[in-house]
Amino acid sequence: MERIDVAGLPVCNFTMQEAVAYVSGLACGEKCGNVVVTPNAEIAKDALDNKEFGELIKKAEVIVADGAGVVLASKILGKPLKEKVAGIELFQNLLPEFAKNKNRVFLFGSKPGVAAEAARIMKEKYGELEICGILDGYTYKNPDDALPTINEAQADVVICCLGAPKQELFMLGNKDKFNCKVLMGLGGSLDVISGNVKRAPEFYVKHNLEWLYRLMKEPKRIGRMMKLPKYILKILAIRIGFGGRK
Ligand code: UDP
Repeated sequence: MERIDVAGLPVCNFTMQEAVAYVSGLACGEKCGNVVVTPNAEIAKDALDNKEFGELIKKAEVIVADGAGVVLASKILGKPLKEKVAGIELFQNLLPEFAKNKNRVFLFGSKPGVAAEAARIMKEKYGELEICGILDGYTYKNPDDALPTINEAQADVVICCLGAPKQELFMLGNKDKFNCKVLMGLGGSLDVISGNVKRAPEFYVKHNLEWLYRLMKEPKRIGRMMKLPKYILKILAIRIGFGGRK
């Protein structure tokens, strides 16, 4: 698998199809504790600014570009990634594979009831899909306390939706302690799949204005959203030789 160095972040140069095949292979393999992270510009900027977080995230077996910002960064730096591999779409494309291969899937995170509703919707579409456990993201203040419950479920795949960087710290900080094959950090994906959070109407998606729709719905996200232009500015600075990292 080819990796492209996007300002210190070794991103897998996958098409969506290649990513699905690779992660599905890991879920059926022997090795435990393979971590899949899906950084958008916000997480990529945190990885650039915070050396410790940057080093931790590099330990992931699979890093895919969740946002167009990371793909743009790769182009600015002259080593373009093949395409964006959005975490939620990767998961949705993996579902039929998990169902076909009888992989046991554990859903961890989001508010109480959200994962159960997402599980119901996923099973409606893929009857064979085996959801072996569900735990919301608020039962334990420290997600590490959820480890015994997760391991007892004997899952092949654990979906972690605790938001960044909480989910990355949980997955990568406990990498050697899991008995599952794959862990995927997927932020607010269960909210979207359950219908708890609506994706933007087609008009916004078509005109690349999904961010504007999200901002109108949740104005408090403005601080987080400003990280995208800041990230791109930082990448431009690196490109012309003013940045700290290459
Ligand atoms: N969350 C959680 N436990 C926490 C904090 C957050 O389970 O202690 C969940 C939250 O309910 C939401 C997800 O983590 O479902 C984070 O969503 P967000 O939209 O922030 O994620 P993004 O995809 O933007 O990283």
